Amino acid sequence: MRKRLIVSAASALSLFLAVPASASGFQPGADGLGDPYYPTLGNGGYRVSHYDIRLKYQPATDELEGTTTILATATQDLSRFNLDFALNVSEVRVNGRIATFATSGDQELEITPARPLAKGSQATVVVRYKDVPSTVQKYGGYTAWRRTPDGAVVAGEPVSAGWWFPSNDHPSDKATFDVSVLVPDGNQVISNGVLTGTTSQAGWTRYSWRENKPQATYLATLAIGKFDVSQDTTASGLPVYNAYSKDLGENAAAARASVERTGELVDWLSGYFGEYPFSSVGGYVANTQSSGALETQTRVSYGPGLFARGSNTQVVVHELAHQWYGDSVSLSRWSDIWLNEGFAEYSQFLWSEHENEGTAQELADYIYASRPADDPFWTVKPGDPGEENQFSGAVYYRGAVAIQALRNAVGDEKFFRILKGWPTERRYGNATIPEFQAYAEKVSGQKLGDLLNTWLFTPSKPAVGPVPPGTAAAASLAPGADAGRAEGQLPAEPKSWKKIQETSSVHEARH
Ligand SMILES: [Zn+2]
Repeated sequence: MRKRLIVSAASALSLFLAVPASASGFQPGADGLGDPYYPTLGNGGYRVSHYDIRLKYQPATDELEGTTTILATATQDLSRFNLDFALNVSEVRVNGRIATFATSGDQELEITPARPLAKGSQATVVVRYKDVPSTVQKYGGYTAWRRTPDGAVVAGEPVSAGWWFPSNDHPSDKATFDVSVLVPDGNQVISNGVLTGTTSQAGWTRYSWRENKPQATYLATLAIGKFDVSQDTTASGLPVYNAYSKDLGENAAAARASVERTGELVDWLSGYFGEYPFSSVGGYVANTQSSGALETQTRVSYGPGLFARGSNTQVVVHELAHQWYGDSVSLSRWSDIWLNEGFAEYSQFLWSEHENEGTAQELADYIYASRPADDPFWTVKPGDPGEENQFSGAVYYRGAVAIQALRNAVGDEKFFRILKGWPTERRYGNATIPEFQAYAEKVSGQKLGDLLNTWLFTPSKPAVGPVPPGTAAAASLAPGADAGRAEGQLPAEPKSWKKIQETSSVHEARH
């Protein structure tokens, strides 16, 4: 799920037009975190530890009424600070007192508290709002909130939070979440984590969800409608909560035949990535028109189109792999998207291997050999693809081939130690590609700079394929060889390839 963001000049300017610092030295917080791709996402001057999101939603009219309470800590002396939010706000309070507020740019909500916030102090920020989210368009016509025939769904990368709660909207600031939504009786609410309770009164039912582990704002999700719920525990004892819209038509059975494999697949992935980091797992399939998926934390969002050609365990594996690579260990900056997508894609190679539908090596060889050196595919650097190519095929395919090249360079024993050790060491945190490199070098005892430069940061086809050095295959896959090679000399297409490609083209369309 993605939408290109056009950075608004107006919002960048507001930094410089800010009121002069007061005599006490209190300053406005920055209106962005300076992300290399999305400079105005997130805000400076504070960190959030918790979001309490309390909503009332009427599916018939798409009216959303909310009060979000944010627990934050000032990281500088603040005269003013921003939240990111797209909906219409009626009141803001900071530490109990009414605050003044203004809006600018696509999602900037500028809040001036009655009393400035000293560095290190705690702030409780309460924002009240009411809007019709599906009518709110930002970034040149984008809305993250999608109505369905019986409700609504919000899930989107890199931005979606702004259509249902105010936040510090950047993965580098993660927090715990309580989400509580009041809907007319007969409707259900799906969100992240564990359903802690439902209560009904006077025709309305409240659903309360809790995610007790740090969660990035874009990984929070909400689905409202009429669902069939399936609850179970995995063989290892983890609670599973899956939900299927009652309105999936002929995709319903294939959706279940895929998403009901969640427990099995999360246990299988634990063998590669270590203990599952969260206290619940599952997914939902809403009655949208979508053919995409998003790795929303503990509760993956699947579009019904993913199951139009039968079951699709590849997409379930991919999104569950993100629970370790992306959700538990999150990006510090969007340019490092390979840390999410390269590894989620590589988990599909491992699943293919497990299913005897082609080994990871065969898939990597095939991707390398089937794309000639002049294919624009090779001009995208998976390690820094650029905002416009953040979710292009190269980030996934070349990104996964890079991981096979790493496996060959360090050997299986060390490779699988890295694959499991990294999400264990960095659990619930944030990371960058250079930090991953340092970790892989520490575990392997090898310098990996040249290898990662070749596969992640060079805008051309690597001269040698992803093969163990010195093998005969290395020679036959050299680029000089592919010019004169006949069709028949290409490696055979792995059995899993078509399904993997389907999953990833789906990602390209939505991410
Ligand atoms: Zn992905």
